[in-house]
Amino acid sequence: MELIVEQSCPSCGAAIVGDEADRLLQCPFCGVRHYRVTPGLSRYVLPDKAPGHIPREEIFYAPYLHFKGSIFTCNGKQVQQRVVDITQSGTGGTVAGLPPSLGLRPQAMPVSLLAAQLPGHFFRQQLKAEAIFELAALSAGGVLEKSPDPLYHRAFIGETISCLYLPLYLHGGILYDAVTNRSLAEGVSAAELEKMCLPFQNQWMPRFLATLCPACGGSLEGERDSLVLSCHNCQTSWEEVGGVLRSLAWQRLASLHKDARYLPFWKIEVSASGVEMETFGDFLRLTNQPLVVRPEHDRMALCFWVPAFKIRPQIFLNLARNLTLSQKRLPAGEAVMAGGLFPVTLPQSEAVQAVKTVLAEAAVNKRDFLPLLPGISFQPQATELVYLPFIDNGHDWVQEHILLAVPGSVLRFGRSL
Ligand SMILES: [Zn+2]
Ligand SMILES: [Zn+2]
Repeated sequence: MELIVEQSCPSCGAAIVGDEADRLLQCPFCGVRHYRVTPGLSRYVLPDKAPGHIPREEIFYAPYLHFKGSIFTCNGKQVQQRVVDITQSGTGGTVAGLPPSLGLRPQAMPVSLLAAQLPGHFFRQQLKAEAIFELAALSAGGVLEKSPDPLYHRAFIGETISCLYLPLYLHGGILYDAVTNRSLAEGVSAAELEKMCLPFQNQWMPRFLATLCPACGGSLEGERDSLVLSCHNCQTSWEEVGGVLRSLAWQRLASLHKDARYLPFWKIEVSASGVEMETFGDFLRLTNQPLVVRPEHDRMALCFWVPAFKIRPQIFLNLARNLTLSQKRLPAGEAVMAGGLFPVTLPQSEAVQAVKTVLAEAAVNKRDFLPLLPGISFQPQATELVYLPFIDNGHDWVQEHILLAVPGSVLRFGRSL
């Protein structure tokens, strides 16, 4: 489910319409660009059609949590994956008549970003954000966990959790859905409902950062869903962490082709515990790769390569596995900017969580290897963003050095995952 989001320009107040994943907002009227930072959940309000005689202060807002992301499970002798997209009432059944889920409704209408004070009453969220992970796993369970085989590992990768508010109002003791004006419950008292509510909280609002390079003051570049902004003036890359822009270690591998496109990957050096795995050579031995492990493999650090963009989970895992196994064939790069950089849409914190699943996927004999997973843990040592050149042949994007192919249509679709 992809939300269409309306918000106002923080500079001039003009309406900007975009997608849920948008972070870099360019105002079509004043031209100012802002980078949106949300401290907790992103919050959106469904548009209401409450009758004019209902004062805005008497609108009630019921929270629904929206989970969208990929789930990977390792059970028995299989690594499986699935995209999950659910909404669930956050009031935990305390308000009579509320639908348990919004279904596909939010997709049918633009929602507004909750970015300014709103009068009315907000039901307290009873459902914890952690609980939505369990629900997401259950909803994927029909496919992934029905088997009687033991579950060795489960990871949620690239998920976004947001809060959607359904507006409601009371009239003559009847609770109405303010979007459809349908009645939900009778004999409802306003005083009782208000006890379950709190007023608008300022910390729900997003903040906006200027898109200026903290190092040189130049203009930062990025596409609207980019999580990493680039300075082409001083050749630096920036990622927002805790509300501030932080400089990233990065490189780009040069291409022989002038119209190459560059896909971003997180190169994550880890140390492993619970298993004998200190070098890339150990990784090859442990996963039982059908090749001769050479002394140079044992001199290489243990690094995993994980896509820094959202893409269908099966392709995500394939790319991570193949690049991790073929990393020796990639030349060194340099921190030099170029055009054609594909936006980073998967943050490094999420990529780190994928490492164990990539290890599982790389194992040749999964039946014997997967039972080891619960005892293995990884500590990231260093992370670098690496842009690899790909040539678009009209159908696939093909990596220039190791000839790995990704269908172009899948890359475009991934931006709405
Ligand atoms: Zn503006
Ligand atoms: Zn700069």
